[in-house]
Amino acid sequence: MDASPTIVYRYKSGLYVNLTNRCPTACVFCVKNSWKMDYRGSNLNLAGTEPSPAEIIALARKEWTAAPFEEFVFCGYGEPTMRLEALLATARLIKHGKAAPIPPSMRVRLNTNGLANAVWGRNVVPEMKGLIDSVHVSLNTSDPAQWAELMRPMAPWAATGFEKVKEFIREASLLLPEAYATAVEGNGVDIGNFKTLAEKLGAEPRVRPRLDEEEAG
Ligand code: SF4
Repeated sequence: MDASPTIVYRYKSGLYVNLTNRCPTACVFCVKNSWKMDYRGSNLNLAGTEPSPAEIIALARKEWTAAPFEEFVFCGYGEPTMRLEALLATARLIKHGKAAPIPPSMRVRLNTNGLANAVWGRNVVPEMKGLIDSVHVSLNTSDPAQWAELMRPMAPWAATGFEKVKEFIREASLLLPEAYATAVEGNGVDIGNFKTLAEKLGAEPRVRPRLDEEEAG
């Protein structure tokens, strides 16, 4: 594993941004501990130093010049919305044409556990309008008790978290171009009920294997 922290890394056709290691949940399926903060050869342990939007864009420009990518993804290890301002500022640089040669038409995706409204105490989805093209929200289940078991939220968000995640998905499906609700296979989840809830919230359900790219976020 590379010893220096990785801020941007490639996966498939995307460029992934490691914005923070902070997270309001400790999901049972998170691989950050078992993989020792390594993600397919990249060291995602930021060791307390979180990158600035300018730093991220400088690195992304270098990557683009080496080989263009199709998608710019806020992922992890960590919950990107813990740094909401930095997330939005970085997306703004791209969408406002200040990250050339990366085009403003670049698709910007957020992988999230959906707790941003709970963490920030307001509906933050309108702030993402025009900046985030796609959100993938780790909803995982239709059952509040199972959500708490799988996501293991920190105390301040344990009681109301599930409702807040549902609210976030509902808002995202109304205001943003694309909203997915995701679940991880093999957690004893009733996939039929999960899909029904995702669709009721206006999102497209997506069931993913236990070890794939979104587990980094
Ligand atoms: S999977 Fe993502 S949201 Fe869950 S604990 Fe790990 S970093 Fe946090």
